[in-house]
Amino acid sequence: MENLLGYVADLLFPRLCVVCGKELNASERHVCAMCMAELPLTGYHKIEFNPMEQLFAGKVPVEWASGYFFYERGSRHAAILHSLKYKNQPHLGEWLARRFAAELHACGWLDGVDAVVPVPLHRSKLVVRGYNQSEYIARGIASVAGCRVEKLVKAAKAHETQTHKGQHERLLNTEGVFCATAEAARFSGKHILMVDDVVTTGATLIACAEALRRAVDDLRISVATLAVARLQ
Ligand SMILES: [Zn+2]
Repeated sequence: MENLLGYVADLLFPRLCVVCGKELNASERHVCAMCMAELPLTGYHKIEFNPMEQLFAGKVPVEWASGYFFYERGSRHAAILHSLKYKNQPHLGEWLARRFAAELHACGWLDGVDAVVPVPLHRSKLVVRGYNQSEYIARGIASVAGCRVEKLVKAAKAHETQTHKGQHERLLNTEGVFCATAEAARFSGKHILMVDDVVTTGATLIACAEALRRAVDDLRISVATLAVARLQ
């Protein structure tokens, strides 16, 4: 019966590949096999001191950093991030994150990770979008890592940004000032994996990592993003 309902639902509302728009077959989800095969993977978890780790070097210490695929504005696969952020498809992020996490798990990078921490979305954006895409990515990775998603960072309110202008000048170029939540203190001496949908300059992730390091002693931080922006 379930199969029949699924069949009828597919006829009425065909599931389409978010990249090429072709109809997905029964075994495919979100992105067709052909477009998945063409996904421009970074392979960063196989490269020592990879370009993403170089982004953080000298700014904030990280255990490791990796992103799943390259993002280029206007490219075919850019549609993935667009659907994830603006077309109400957060489960696409969770699904891709599980695939990414399987690769990280295979090379042992998820061993000893105590919690997966999503980069928070400012409340004003959350109201418009209805969800934080990074939380879905965090869920996907945590399910493979066998640990919990913990919201240990929050985005401060806009007026707080103004109040702290003098103190946090370096952070003002990021989307806002972040601070650690009360629960973060429990993670002293632990290893957390911070996740976001895309890394460009790294400023947002660096600001989050700094907020956590100010609040938590001996915190080890790694970073994973679905996409890595190629700067032109
Ligand atoms: Zn496709």
